[in-house]
Amino acid sequence: MKHKIKSLVIMSLLAVLSVAVAGAQNTSITLDFPNWKAGESHFDEHEWTEVIAGDIPLVITVPHSGTKKPKEMADRTCKDEQGRLVRGWDRYTADMAHAIRNAFLEKYNKSPYFVINHVHRRKVDQNRDIVAVCGDEKGEEAWNNFHIAADSAIADVLRKFGHTLYIDLHAHGHENQRLELGYNLTKEELQKAFKKEDLKKYAAKSSMSNYIAKNPDTDIWELLFGAQGFGAFISKEGLPATPAMQDPHPVGDERFFSGGYNTRRYTSSEHPNVFGFQIESNYRKVRDSKANMKLFAEAFGRAYYNFANTLGL
Ligand SMILES: [Zn+2]
Repeated sequence: MKHKIKSLVIMSLLAVLSVAVAGAQNTSITLDFPNWKAGESHFDEHEWTEVIAGDIPLVITVPHSGTKKPKEMADRTCKDEQGRLVRGWDRYTADMAHAIRNAFLEKYNKSPYFVINHVHRRKVDQNRDIVAVCGDEKGEEAWNNFHIAADSAIADVLRKFGHTLYIDLHAHGHENQRLELGYNLTKEELQKAFKKEDLKKYAAKSSMSNYIAKNPDTDIWELLFGAQGFGAFISKEGLPATPAMQDPHPVGDERFFSGGYNTRRYTSSEHPNVFGFQIESNYRKVRDSKANMKLFAEAFGRAYYNFANTLGL
């Protein structure tokens, strides 16, 4: 059932104002999560951002899933700090999110929180800083909707649970058919960490750093490469992943996504009770058919609960 929410837009305007006034992102604005039923979908008035309330400490954002190209929103034409302009979307990741939600509701009668972007990356990049909308007013509105929704979902989970796992869900086109788990650690850093070099440094840099800060006995090596890591659990389901016990790190000239803006932002010290990682999903056996998406979603559910058990969530 879809519920329109005007509050999202009003709040986004407030956020734009507060950004203009304070020069910083306002994270105190909240949506009406406490009055939403877990598993319900809500949209802003343009249906650019979809928010699904949940009832477990897991927030999943899906930034590159959009297919809508609103005429009133300009195409992005400016380059990012690295001189790139990436406008391709992550095919079927919104469908993956819905498959995950259905699998959780069916098996556990629980739902993660989801924030799903429906605007094409040609118009807005929801995994970059706001400057990547190149100053377009409607693009900024869409960008704010998405991030206010993510901030609000996280705030609601923290009110209920005090902490949350955060996953930013993407799709890659790399040759090696495996899930790439982005812990804010590059290929080279994973290679060193696997050899137990500079583990403390990488623990602090990783997207699990907030968890480790609160649980100082945590062994980052075990989380990344051990039998109780998320990578090991999902690989055991027949879905290869790296880093994982079964495939510790990319090698040679293999391409690898280590985590982007959202992963850095939502697991930073500004969100001390949030930790997690980015999932860049391959195509085969993950999102190449509705049937495989369902199987992936069920496997993801088991891997999530196993990993939550490791973390004591
Ligand atoms: Zn992406």
